[in-house]
Amino acid sequence: MTIIQRLLSEEQTLMRESCRAFVDDVVIPFIRKDWQREWSMTPDDRLPREILEGADRIGIRTLGVPDEFGGVELDKASEVRTFALISEEIARGDSGLSDKLVQNWKVSVLLRNLAPRHLQEKWFTRLVKDPQFLLAHCLTEPRGASDRWLPYNVPEAAMQTRAVRRDGGWVINGRKQFISNGYDAGLYVVYANTDPKVGMMQGTSSFLVPRETPGLTVARCNETLGCRFMNNGELVFEDMVVPQDHLLVENEALGKAGIYFQPGKIIQASKNLGVGVRAFEATAEYVQNYVQGGRILIKHQAVALRLADMATRIEAVRALRDRAAQAVDDGATDADVLCNMAKVYASEEMMKVAQHALELHGGNGVMLDFGIEKLFRDAAIFLHMDATADVSRFKIVKSLFPHSAGKYAGPEA
Ligand SMILES: Cc1cc2nc3c(=O)[nH]c(=O)nc-3n(C[C@H](O)[C@H](O)[C@H](O)COP(=O)(O)OP(=O)(O)OC[C@H]3O[C@@H](n4cnc5c(N)ncnc54)[C@H](O)[C@@H]3O)c2cc1C
Repeated sequence: MTIIQRLLSEEQTLMRESCRAFVDDVVIPFIRKDWQREWSMTPDDRLPREILEGADRIGIRTLGVPDEFGGVELDKASEVRTFALISEEIARGDSGLSDKLVQNWKVSVLLRNLAPRHLQEKWFTRLVKDPQFLLAHCLTEPRGASDRWLPYNVPEAAMQTRAVRRDGGWVINGRKQFISNGYDAGLYVVYANTDPKVGMMQGTSSFLVPRETPGLTVARCNETLGCRFMNNGELVFEDMVVPQDHLLVENEALGKAGIYFQPGKIIQASKNLGVGVRAFEATAEYVQNYVQGGRILIKHQAVALRLADMATRIEAVRALRDRAAQAVDDGATDADVLCNMAKVYASEEMMKVAQHALELHGGNGVMLDFGIEKLFRDAAIFLHMDATADVSRFKIVKSLFPHSAGKYAGPEA
């Protein structure tokens, strides 16, 4: 790919180079050679420990953790753009691995902003010390997540996981599903209803829950279509007791999680872009070497057109992603709408890029050991993460037309 990434700071250029080397030298060779590993039904055996150790060595496991706790603090003025750049680079190697790492960054941003100092010291120190330590953010429940994203802010749509104050602490009962790093994390941020009489925006609180907390069970690792190294999991809380100081935000946790949601959408678009970039690179190599009809594939016009289409979609997504990331870094008023646009646009465009890759590889495209079908599977996951495509579109219209757009849930006023 000859297109140049423009306007990178020195910090971003250096990080991008070390990520690219890590992906080219370690991640891609592992994925190609050990392609069966993502299918291991023993989730602990999927990702070799050395991969997270390697990520730790180049400093990308603890992004967002303040310097004073030993993390890698980025320039705040361009932090989200740097998250974007790195998550794209790592997803070019494997999007599940990228997801594993970005959960740490996103939750670290949340803790940095919301957790009391003694808890930051305790948990950031543990995170920094142990290269296998991961974080997870637990919102979604079996009754569905779209109501939360819209939001459908009425008592009957509130979270079913309940936290009740007792003896100076909190007792939590409920269940969370579809949680990235849910199977592996050492520390969870859990959202629970603390006031059933009001809507979720006014009655949801967030708690820090260490993995070893009695009453917490990691019920299962979900077997996903793609991004399988993220070890997506389901958690059950049965009379789980959390001390008072582990309450992060009382009642207004969803509003406060905004500091996490916007970077989250950018990172989502970026991981997705990384999958498309890899699909393009692999296809570009294939069509310049594989011969049919007496010439290499790229010399067939139909193939050339598809290749141009893939490259154009990638650049269009990158341009929108960069614009949205800049808006988030700047705290701009249009950041919300741009984030949702970038996320939903990436999910649909990269699906098309992955489909072109699959088709241009012919039968090889669907062979498990060839590596292309994995990109197609990974791309499909992004249609569902961090809000569905349709719900993201509702958010876009609601931002653009706040006075006339619908609520898209419940009776209209
Ligand atoms: C791989 C993966 C990783 C994830 N990681 C996490 C995580 O780390 N933490 C976390 O908390 N969650 C996580 N999620 C959950 C994710 O945010 C939700 O899956 C997503 O928001 C969609 O919610 P849902 O699956 O409950 O779908 P539902 O809300 O049940 O939606 C089902 C369908 O109904 C449509 N729909 C819903 N409401 C409306 C409406 N009002 N009008 C029209 N159509 C509607 C939706 O668009 C969709 O097509 C993850 C999900 C996946 C797949």
